[in-house]
Amino acid sequence: MVRYAAVAGDVLSRQLRALPPTHAILASAEAQRLSLEISHGAVRALVRRVMADIRARLRAHELPAEREFLIRHALGELARAAHRARLPTLRSVLNATGVLLHTNLGRAPLGEEVLAHVSLVGQGYATLEYDLARGRRGHRDAIVRPLLQEILGAEDALVVNNCAAAVLLACTALATGRDVVVSRGELVEIGGGFRVPEVITSCGARLVEVGTTNRTRIEDYARAVGPDTAMILRVHRSNFAITGFTADATREELVALGHKANVPVVEDLGSGVLVHPLAPGLPREPTVRESIAAGVGLVMCSGDKLMGGPQAGIVAGRGDLVEKLRQHPLARALRPGRLVMSALEATLRVVAEGRASVALPVVRALSERPETVRARAEAVLAVLVDLGVDVHGVVAKVQETTARVGGGTMPTVRLPSYAVRVSGIDAVKLEKALRAGNPAVVARMEDHAVLLDLRAVAERDVRALGEALVTAVQKVQGGGADGGSDDTDNAENGG
Ligand SMILES: *Cc1c(COP(=O)(O)O)cnc(C)c1O
Repeated sequence: MVRYAAVAGDVLSRQLRALPPTHAILASAEAQRLSLEISHGAVRALVRRVMADIRARLRAHELPAEREFLIRHALGELARAAHRARLPTLRSVLNATGVLLHTNLGRAPLGEEVLAHVSLVGQGYATLEYDLARGRRGHRDAIVRPLLQEILGAEDALVVNNCAAAVLLACTALATGRDVVVSRGELVEIGGGFRVPEVITSCGARLVEVGTTNRTRIEDYARAVGPDTAMILRVHRSNFAITGFTADATREELVALGHKANVPVVEDLGSGVLVHPLAPGLPREPTVRESIAAGVGLVMCSGDKLMGGPQAGIVAGRGDLVEKLRQHPLARALRPGRLVMSALEATLRVVAEGRASVALPVVRALSERPETVRARAEAVLAVLVDLGVDVHGVVAKVQETTARVGGGTMPTVRLPSYAVRVSGIDAVKLEKALRAGNPAVVARMEDHAVLLDLRAVAERDVRALGEALVTAVQKVQGGGADGGSDDTDNAENGG
């Protein structure tokens, strides 16, 4: 056994002897040039990482033990690593998936006038917690409270980081050590592991389940509500639908029960439609305003779903309940910063002025006529023609599709849409090349073709999308045999 190890060690050291020394790579013209662009220290770190990777691959016999080859390989890897290092990690992408509120892609894009306000507030100092009229400390809640009161007809309102934080805060501030009554039909998982029953118990509250998955009646709630009940929680089934033999207690019945038992009804609406109508032609979603009007004690929703604003959680409702949340120490840990507050204020102003379907991209995209989407798909084709590239064998045409709202909202809604369908090329490689491009494009695949759905692509991005598509097609056609490893060949595609 010892001898065997010695022999293996010999082979290994012969392999490793082929490895060029790190200082030789550092002294190369390529590394010197890179040092002028990024710092010397950064180049050194990249070289070290590249060499460690090559050493590991030599050990695994994945690379030939030839000095000349290894030097070339190391320099190539260094260039790719430097390119990647210069790209920010959080990058903007073109969303050609046909999912408007794509949670993995950051949900709602912000409108231009909203961004203008964020830019202004973010550049310098701002009245985040400062009362200009009095020249002294103010309240961050005061920034959007008047707008929320006006839009929602609520006594008071509070903003936290997201809707999950709002639910967490409400349960913690109102129900720790006490009962939260919820229908079994609403013990849902929102996504990303946010499960209503777990949130309730993690706040130290007791979950009291009532009814069944498909049917819960007001009598079920009435039997469960008692002296230990802190709240009746109602959760909007925003990301799925229960159909068939179903029954639910109405909001009015719950409010009446809560009133009689002196227990607040708290509603997690999630999807974030503040007022009706959100956009023409869409099914009616429950709105925060109607919940408040019905007498619900606290209503919570997301800022970056159908509201079309930044990631935030809105809590609106009865003054005494909102104040309890505000006073809880957890509120401080969940408060958003000024970038979010400025985006939220500008978004709410647009909503208050009834301009959401013009000024908020998500609402605009939801209400857009299919012909307008088709015109963008045709404009992408025109870019392909315009660039006059030889895309031999590749077929690109406009195809009718259905887009979705996404973000765990309106699960049953299908939006008529149009896509550019690209076939006659390795779809797996093309989809990957699109993601590796700059701008990166996230598309979807269907039947060995790549579909670029235009519903969530803004007019101003049409040209960039067309160019990115051409670059990706060329890369797949020209670069199929470049032999680069799967993870690293992406980086070449600067554009
Ligand atoms: C989406 C959703 C949440 C979570 O909202 P975030 O803002 O993503 O934290 C909570 N409850 C419901 C009903 C939702 O739909």
